[in-house]
Amino acid sequence: MIFSQVKQAPADPILGLTDAFKADTRAHKVNLGVGIYKDEAGQTPVLSSVKKAEAKLLEIEKSKNYLGIEGVQAYNQVVQTLLFGENSDIVKQQRAVTAQAPGGTGSLRVAAEFLMSNTNSKTIWVSNPTWANHQNIFETAGLTVKQYQYYVAETHDMDFDAMITDLNQAEEGDIVLLHGCCHNPTGIDLNIEQWKTVAQLCLDKSLLPLFDFAYQGFGAGIEEDAQGLRAVADIVPELIVANSFSKNFGLYNERIGAVTLVAEDAQSALTSFSQVKKTIRSSYSNPPAHGGLIVSTILADAELRAEWEGELTEMRQRIAQMRTLFVETLKSEGVEQDFSFISRQNGMFSFSGLTKEQVNRLRDEFAIYIVGSGRISVAGLTKDNVPVVCKAIAQV
Ligand code: PLP
Repeated sequence: MIFSQVKQAPADPILGLTDAFKADTRAHKVNLGVGIYKDEAGQTPVLSSVKKAEAKLLEIEKSKNYLGIEGVQAYNQVVQTLLFGENSDIVKQQRAVTAQAPGGTGSLRVAAEFLMSNTNSKTIWVSNPTWANHQNIFETAGLTVKQYQYYVAETHDMDFDAMITDLNQAEEGDIVLLHGCCHNPTGIDLNIEQWKTVAQLCLDKSLLPLFDFAYQGFGAGIEEDAQGLRAVADIVPELIVANSFSKNFGLYNERIGAVTLVAEDAQSALTSFSQVKKTIRSSYSNPPAHGGLIVSTILADAELRAEWEGELTEMRQRIAQMRTLFVETLKSEGVEQDFSFISRQNGMFSFSGLTKEQVNRLRDEFAIYIVGSGRISVAGLTKDNVPVVCKAIAQV
Protein backbone atom coordinates (compact mmCIF):
# COMPACT_ATOMS: atom_id res chain seq x y z
CA MET A 1 0.00 0.00 0.00
CA ILE A 2 1.31 3.44 -0.89
CA PHE A 3 -0.35 5.45 1.84
CA SER A 4 0.67 3.03 4.57
CA GLN A 5 4.21 4.43 4.16
CA VAL A 6 3.02 7.89 5.22
CA LYS A 7 4.11 8.95 8.69
CA GLN A 8 1.90 10.99 11.00
CA ALA A 9 2.81 14.71 10.90
CA PRO A 10 3.23 16.47 14.24
CA ALA A 11 0.33 18.76 15.17
CA ASP A 12 0.98 22.41 14.30
CA PRO A 13 2.09 24.02 17.58
CA ILE A 14 -0.45 26.84 17.33
CA LEU A 15 -3.36 25.45 15.31
CA GLY A 16 -3.03 22.14 17.22
CA LEU A 17 -3.63 24.14 20.39
CA THR A 18 -6.87 25.53 18.93
CA ASP A 19 -8.05 21.97 18.22
CA ALA A 20 -7.34 21.00 21.84
CA PHE A 21 -9.15 24.15 23.03
CA LYS A 22 -12.23 23.34 20.94
CA ALA A 23 -12.33 19.81 22.35
CA ASP A 24 -12.14 21.08 25.96
CA THR A 25 -15.64 20.95 27.52
CA ARG A 26 -14.87 23.19 30.53
CA ALA A 27 -17.15 26.25 30.28
CA HIS A 28 -14.64 28.74 31.73
CA LYS A 29 -11.88 27.88 29.20
CA VAL A 30 -9.76 30.75 27.80
CA ASN A 31 -7.78 30.61 24.53
CA LEU A 32 -4.67 32.82 24.54
CA GLY A 33 -2.96 30.75 21.84
CA VAL A 34 -3.71 31.70 18.26
CA GLY A 35 -3.25 35.34 17.20
CA ILE A 36 -6.74 36.50 16.51
CA TYR A 37 -8.22 39.73 17.79
CA LYS A 38 -11.11 39.45 20.25
CA ASP A 39 -13.29 42.35 21.33
CA GLU A 40 -14.44 43.02 24.91
CA ALA A 41 -17.16 40.39 24.46
CA GLY A 42 -14.58 37.80 23.40
CA GLN A 43 -15.83 37.84 19.79
CA THR A 44 -14.00 38.30 16.47
CA PRO A 45 -16.68 40.17 14.52
CA VAL A 46 -16.48 41.28 10.87
CA LEU A 47 -15.39 44.95 10.83
CA SER A 48 -18.20 47.36 10.01
CA SER A 49 -16.12 48.91 7.20
CA VAL A 50 -15.68 45.43 5.72
CA LYS A 51 -19.43 44.68 5.89
CA LYS A 52 -20.15 47.94 4.07
CA ALA A 53 -17.55 47.23 1.39
CA GLU A 54 -19.02 43.76 0.92
CA ALA A 55 -22.53 45.21 0.52
CA LYS A 56 -21.16 47.55 -2.13
CA LEU A 57 -19.40 44.70 -3.93
CA LEU A 58 -22.52 42.54 -3.90
CA GLU A 59 -24.25 45.26 -5.88
CA ILE A 60 -21.58 46.16 -8.38
CA GLU A 61 -19.85 42.84 -9.00
CA LYS A 62 -20.87 41.57 -12.44
CA SER A 63 -18.58 38.61 -13.00
CA LYS A 64 -16.59 35.94 -11.24
CA ASN A 65 -14.15 35.73 -14.13
CA TYR A 66 -10.54 34.86 -13.27
CA LEU A 67 -8.25 37.59 -12.04
CA GLY A 68 -4.82 37.99 -13.64
CA ILE A 69 -1.98 36.06 -12.00
CA GLU A 70 -1.06 39.15 -9.98
CA GLY A 71 -4.61 39.74 -8.70
CA VAL A 72 -6.65 42.94 -8.43
CA GLN A 73 -4.64 45.85 -9.91
CA ALA A 74 -6.21 48.52 -7.70
CA TYR A 75 -5.47 46.38 -4.66
CA ASN A 76 -1.80 46.03 -5.57
CA GLN A 77 -1.53 49.80 -5.86
CA VAL A 78 -3.04 50.46 -2.42
CA VAL A 79 -0.72 47.84 -0.93
CA GLN A 80 2.28 49.79 -2.24
CA THR A 81 0.93 53.03 -0.78
CA LEU A 82 0.36 51.42 2.63
CA LEU A 83 3.88 49.98 2.61
CA PHE A 84 5.89 52.89 1.24
CA GLY A 85 3.60 55.89 1.85
CA GLU A 86 1.99 58.49 -0.41
CA ASN A 87 4.45 60.01 -2.90
CA SER A 88 7.01 57.26 -2.45
CA ASP A 89 9.94 57.52 -4.85
CA ILE A 90 10.15 53.74 -5.01
CA VAL A 91 6.56 53.61 -6.30
CA LYS A 92 7.00 56.60 -8.63
CA GLN A 93 10.12 55.06 -10.16
CA GLN A 94 8.24 51.76 -10.61
CA ARG A 95 10.86 49.89 -8.65
CA ALA A 96 8.10 48.05 -6.75
CA VAL A 97 5.97 45.25 -8.19
CA THR A 98 3.16 43.61 -6.21
CA ALA A 99 1.20 40.41 -6.56
CA GLN A 100 -1.88 39.75 -4.44
CA ALA A 101 -1.41 36.43 -2.63
CA PRO A 102 -3.27 34.21 -0.15
CA GLY A 103 -2.46 35.81 3.21
CA GLY A 104 0.91 36.47 4.75
CA THR A 105 1.67 32.75 4.65
CA GLY A 106 1.02 32.43 0.91
CA SER A 107 3.03 35.60 0.26
CA LEU A 108 6.04 34.29 2.21
CA ARG A 109 5.85 30.99 0.34
CA VAL A 110 5.70 32.71 -3.07
CA ALA A 111 8.70 34.86 -2.10
CA ALA A 112 10.66 31.81 -0.90
CA GLU A 113 9.93 29.74 -4.00
CA PHE A 114 10.74 32.65 -6.31
CA LEU A 115 14.12 33.13 -4.59
CA MET A 116 14.87 29.41 -4.51
CA SER A 117 14.20 28.92 -8.23
CA ASN A 118 15.65 32.12 -9.65
CA THR A 119 18.50 33.37 -7.47
CA ASN A 120 21.54 32.20 -5.55
CA SER A 121 19.82 33.26 -2.32
CA LYS A 122 19.15 29.88 -0.74
CA THR A 123 19.83 30.56 2.95
CA ILE A 124 17.48 32.57 5.13
CA TRP A 125 18.23 33.96 8.59
CA VAL A 126 15.28 34.17 10.97
CA SER A 127 15.17 35.62 14.48
CA ASN A 128 15.44 33.34 17.51
CA PRO A 129 12.61 33.06 18.40
CA THR A 130 10.26 33.65 15.48
CA TRP A 131 6.74 32.78 14.33
CA ALA A 132 6.54 28.98 14.43
CA ASN A 133 5.54 28.63 10.77
CA HIS A 134 8.55 30.47 9.32
CA GLN A 135 10.89 27.50 9.43
CA ASN A 136 8.19 25.24 7.99
CA ILE A 137 7.44 27.59 5.08
CA PHE A 138 11.06 28.25 4.14
CA GLU A 139 12.29 24.67 4.50
CA THR A 140 9.36 23.38 2.45
CA ALA A 141 10.38 25.80 -0.30
CA GLY A 142 13.90 24.34 -0.13
CA LEU A 143 15.71 27.18 1.66
CA THR A 144 18.23 26.52 4.42
CA VAL A 145 17.10 28.22 7.63
CA LYS A 146 19.62 29.74 10.06
CA GLN A 147 18.92 31.76 13.19
CA TYR A 148 20.12 35.10 14.50
CA GLN A 149 19.88 35.88 18.20
CA TYR A 150 17.11 38.32 19.03
CA TYR A 151 15.75 37.85 22.51
CA VAL A 152 17.22 37.34 25.96
CA ALA A 153 14.89 35.54 28.36
CA GLU A 154 16.60 36.87 31.50
CA THR A 155 16.07 40.53 30.66
CA HIS A 156 12.83 40.07 28.65
CA ASP A 157 14.47 42.30 26.08
CA MET A 158 16.26 42.07 22.78
CA ASP A 159 20.01 41.68 22.34
CA PHE A 160 20.73 43.88 19.35
CA ASP A 161 24.51 43.39 19.53
CA ALA A 162 24.04 39.62 19.36
CA MET A 163 21.70 40.05 16.39
CA ILE A 164 24.32 42.05 14.51
CA THR A 165 27.10 39.64 15.48
CA ASP A 166 25.09 36.72 14.08
CA LEU A 167 24.09 38.54 10.91
CA ASN A 168 27.77 39.31 10.33
CA GLN A 169 28.18 35.56 9.78
CA ALA A 170 25.75 35.70 6.83
CA GLU A 171 27.17 35.34 3.36
CA GLU A 172 26.60 37.46 0.27
CA GLY A 173 23.11 36.85 -1.12
CA ASP A 174 21.68 35.40 2.10
CA ILE A 175 18.14 36.45 2.98
CA VAL A 176 17.32 38.12 6.31
CA LEU A 177 13.76 37.70 7.54
CA LEU A 178 12.66 40.81 9.48
CA HIS A 179 9.35 41.36 11.27
CA GLY A 180 8.14 44.77 10.03
CA CYS A 181 6.51 45.54 13.39
CA CYS A 182 4.95 43.77 16.38
CA HIS A 183 7.55 41.00 16.40
CA ASN A 184 5.90 37.62 16.84
CA PRO A 185 6.30 36.13 19.44
CA THR A 186 8.28 38.64 21.55
CA GLY A 187 6.44 41.93 20.90
CA ILE A 188 9.83 43.68 20.85
CA ASP A 189 10.69 45.77 17.79
CA LEU A 190 13.82 47.52 16.55
CA ASN A 191 14.02 51.29 17.00
CA ILE A 192 14.71 53.49 14.00
CA GLU A 193 18.49 53.66 14.61
CA GLN A 194 18.64 49.88 14.86
CA TRP A 195 16.67 49.55 11.61
CA LYS A 196 19.22 51.78 9.89
CA THR A 197 22.09 49.71 11.29
CA VAL A 198 20.52 46.49 9.98
CA ALA A 199 19.91 48.13 6.60
CA GLN A 200 23.54 49.28 6.37
CA LEU A 201 24.73 45.79 7.26
CA CYS A 202 22.50 44.31 4.52
CA LEU A 203 23.90 46.85 2.07
CA ASP A 204 27.53 46.24 3.06
CA LYS A 205 27.23 42.46 2.97
CA SER A 206 24.77 42.24 0.02
CA LEU A 207 22.07 40.54 2.09
CA LEU A 208 18.43 40.60 0.98
CA PRO A 209 15.86 41.79 3.55
CA LEU A 210 12.56 39.89 3.45
CA PHE A 211 9.96 41.71 5.52
CA ASP A 212 7.14 39.79 7.12
CA PHE A 213 4.61 42.56 7.72
CA ALA A 214 1.52 40.99 9.27
CA TYR A 215 0.53 43.59 11.87
CA GLN A 216 0.65 47.05 10.26
CA GLY A 217 -1.39 49.35 12.51
CA PHE A 218 -1.25 47.14 15.61
CA GLY A 219 1.92 48.73 17.03
CA ALA A 220 1.81 52.53 17.00
CA GLY A 221 -0.23 53.26 13.85
CA ILE A 222 -0.40 52.58 10.12
CA GLU A 223 2.33 55.04 9.13
CA GLU A 224 4.40 54.63 12.30
CA ASP A 225 4.58 50.86 11.91
CA ALA A 226 5.99 51.19 8.39
CA GLN A 227 8.92 53.37 9.52
CA GLY A 228 11.33 50.45 9.83
CA LEU A 229 10.50 49.11 6.38
CA ARG A 230 10.76 52.58 4.83
CA ALA A 231 14.09 53.29 6.54
CA VAL A 232 15.52 50.03 5.20
CA ALA A 233 14.08 50.66 1.72
CA ASP A 234 15.83 54.06 1.72
CA ILE A 235 19.19 52.35 2.19
CA VAL A 236 19.11 48.99 0.38
CA PRO A 237 18.40 48.75 -3.36
CA GLU A 238 16.50 45.44 -3.23
CA LEU A 239 14.07 43.82 -0.81
CA ILE A 240 10.85 41.82 -0.61
CA VAL A 241 7.78 42.40 1.57
CA ALA A 242 5.21 39.75 2.40
CA ASN A 243 2.28 41.52 3.99
CA SER A 244 -1.04 40.33 5.38
CA PHE A 245 -4.44 41.91 6.00
CA SER A 246 -5.66 39.02 8.12
CA LYS A 247 -5.30 40.98 11.34
CA ASN A 248 -5.62 44.69 10.52
CA PHE A 249 -8.77 44.18 8.41
CA GLY A 250 -9.94 41.13 10.39
CA LEU A 251 -9.98 39.21 7.09
CA TYR A 252 -8.44 36.02 8.47
CA ASN A 253 -10.38 33.52 6.39
CA GLU A 254 -10.37 35.53 3.16
CA ARG A 255 -6.63 34.77 2.85
CA ILE A 256 -5.54 38.19 1.68
CA GLY A 257 -1.98 39.45 1.53
CA ALA A 258 0.61 40.41 -1.06
CA VAL A 259 4.17 39.86 -2.09
CA THR A 260 5.98 43.07 -3.12
CA LEU A 261 9.41 43.05 -4.67
CA VAL A 262 11.55 46.19 -4.77
CA ALA A 263 14.35 46.12 -7.32
CA GLU A 264 17.21 48.40 -8.22
CA ASP A 265 15.33 49.77 -11.23
CA ALA A 266 12.03 49.36 -13.09
CA GLN A 267 13.42 46.94 -15.65
CA SER A 268 14.89 44.60 -13.05
CA ALA A 269 11.58 44.76 -11.14
CA LEU A 270 9.60 43.77 -14.24
CA THR A 271 11.92 40.90 -15.12
CA SER A 272 11.78 39.55 -11.58
CA PHE A 273 8.01 39.97 -11.58
CA SER A 274 7.72 37.70 -14.62
CA GLN A 275 9.27 34.94 -12.49
CA VAL A 276 7.13 35.75 -9.43
CA LYS A 277 4.10 35.31 -11.70
CA LYS A 278 5.48 32.02 -13.03
CA THR A 279 5.84 30.81 -9.42
CA ILE A 280 2.22 31.72 -8.71
CA ARG A 281 0.92 30.18 -11.93
CA SER A 282 2.38 26.80 -11.02
CA SER A 283 0.93 26.95 -7.51
CA TYR A 284 -2.60 28.40 -7.31
CA SER A 285 -2.75 30.04 -10.76
CA ASN A 286 -4.31 33.29 -9.60
CA PRO A 287 -5.60 34.56 -6.25
CA PRO A 288 -9.18 34.55 -4.92
CA ALA A 289 -10.78 37.96 -5.54
CA HIS A 290 -12.99 38.77 -2.57
CA GLY A 291 -10.41 39.86 0.03
CA GLY A 292 -8.52 42.04 -2.43
CA LEU A 293 -11.72 43.71 -3.57
CA ILE A 294 -12.75 44.42 0.02
CA VAL A 295 -9.42 46.07 0.88
CA SER A 296 -9.25 48.12 -2.33
CA THR A 297 -12.90 49.20 -1.98
CA ILE A 298 -12.31 50.42 1.59
CA LEU A 299 -9.08 52.24 0.82
CA ALA A 300 -10.49 53.95 -2.29
CA ASP A 301 -13.46 55.42 -0.40
CA ALA A 302 -12.62 58.25 2.04
CA GLU A 303 -15.53 57.46 4.36
CA LEU A 304 -14.90 53.72 4.51
CA ARG A 305 -11.19 54.32 4.95
CA ALA A 306 -11.79 56.65 7.89
CA GLU A 307 -14.11 54.07 9.44
CA TRP A 308 -11.53 51.30 9.00
CA GLU A 309 -8.80 53.45 10.53
CA GLY A 310 -11.09 54.08 13.51
CA GLU A 311 -11.77 50.37 13.91
CA LEU A 312 -8.06 49.57 13.68
CA THR A 313 -7.28 52.23 16.30
CA GLU A 314 -9.91 50.71 18.57
CA MET A 315 -8.32 47.26 18.25
CA ARG A 316 -4.84 48.66 18.92
CA GLN A 317 -5.97 50.65 21.94
CA ARG A 318 -7.93 47.77 23.45
CA ILE A 319 -4.86 45.54 23.29
CA ALA A 320 -2.74 48.26 24.93
CA GLN A 321 -5.33 48.56 27.72
CA MET A 322 -5.29 44.81 28.24
CA ARG A 323 -1.50 44.87 28.61
CA THR A 324 -1.74 47.47 31.38
CA LEU A 325 -4.65 45.71 33.09
CA PHE A 326 -2.85 42.36 32.90
CA VAL A 327 0.31 43.74 34.53
CA GLU A 328 -1.68 45.55 37.24
CA THR A 329 -3.89 42.55 38.00
CA LEU A 330 -0.91 40.19 38.28
CA LYS A 331 0.55 42.57 40.85
CA SER A 332 -2.70 42.80 42.80
CA GLU A 333 -2.95 39.00 42.80
CA GLY A 334 0.34 38.95 44.69
CA VAL A 335 2.61 37.80 41.84
CA GLU A 336 6.04 38.99 42.93
CA GLN A 337 7.83 38.54 39.61
CA ASP A 338 8.05 41.81 37.64
CA PHE A 339 5.84 41.60 34.55
CA SER A 340 6.01 45.31 33.67
CA PHE A 341 7.92 44.45 30.47
CA ILE A 342 4.59 43.24 29.03
CA SER A 343 3.26 46.80 28.85
CA ARG A 344 6.31 47.88 26.83
CA GLN A 345 5.81 45.27 24.08
CA ASN A 346 4.00 45.87 20.76
CA GLY A 347 1.17 44.11 18.98
CA MET A 348 -0.89 41.06 19.71
CA PHE A 349 1.66 38.98 21.54
CA SER A 350 3.65 38.91 24.68
CA PHE A 351 6.45 36.60 25.60
CA SER A 352 5.36 36.08 29.19
CA GLY A 353 8.35 34.16 30.48
CA LEU A 354 6.01 31.37 31.70
CA THR A 355 7.75 28.00 31.54
CA LYS A 356 6.48 24.98 29.60
CA GLU A 357 5.58 23.35 32.89
CA GLN A 358 3.55 26.38 33.99
CA VAL A 359 1.85 26.50 30.57
CA ASN A 360 0.88 22.83 30.94
CA ARG A 361 -0.53 23.40 34.44
CA LEU A 362 -2.54 26.40 33.22
CA ARG A 363 -4.11 24.18 30.55
CA ASP A 364 -4.69 21.08 32.71
CA GLU A 365 -5.81 22.73 35.94
CA PHE A 366 -7.37 26.00 34.75
CA ALA A 367 -8.41 25.45 31.07
CA ILE A 368 -6.20 28.37 30.00
CA TYR A 369 -4.49 27.71 26.66
CA ILE A 370 -1.12 29.36 25.94
CA VAL A 371 1.52 28.34 23.37
CA GLY A 372 4.28 26.15 24.91
CA SER A 373 6.88 28.90 24.48
CA GLY A 374 4.93 31.04 26.95
CA ARG A 375 3.65 33.37 24.21
CA ILE A 376 0.36 34.96 25.25
CA SER A 377 -2.05 36.40 22.71
CA VAL A 378 -2.88 39.61 24.59
CA ALA A 379 -5.63 40.22 22.01
CA GLY A 380 -7.51 37.30 23.60
CA LEU A 381 -7.65 38.98 27.03
CA THR A 382 -10.83 40.79 28.11
CA LYS A 383 -11.82 42.67 31.29
CA ASP A 384 -13.78 39.54 32.21
CA ASN A 385 -11.07 36.95 31.77
CA VAL A 386 -8.02 38.94 32.99
CA PRO A 387 -8.81 38.30 36.71
CA VAL A 388 -9.33 34.57 36.03
CA VAL A 389 -6.08 34.30 34.05
CA CYS A 390 -4.05 36.30 36.59
CA LYS A 391 -5.37 34.26 39.54
CA ALA A 392 -4.35 31.08 37.75
CA ILE A 393 -0.89 32.46 36.90
CA ALA A 394 -0.45 33.45 40.56
CA GLN A 395 -1.12 29.82 41.49
CA VAL A 396 1.31 28.25 39.03
N1 PLP B 1 3.61 36.29 9.77
C1 PLP B 1 3.45 36.42 11.08
C2 PLP B 1 4.55 36.98 11.88
C3 PLP B 1 2.26 36.01 11.68
O1 PLP B 1 2.11 36.13 12.99
C4 PLP B 1 1.22 35.48 10.88
C5 PLP B 1 -0.04 35.03 11.45
O2 PLP B 1 -0.16 34.64 12.57
C6 PLP B 1 1.45 35.37 9.52
C7 PLP B 1 2.64 35.79 8.98
C8 PLP B 1 0.43 34.74 8.60
O3 PLP B 1 -0.61 35.54 8.28
P1 PLP B 1 -1.81 34.97 7.41
O4 PLP B 1 -2.80 34.42 8.36
O5 PLP B 1 -2.28 36.15 6.67
O6 PLP B 1 -1.27 33.91 6.53
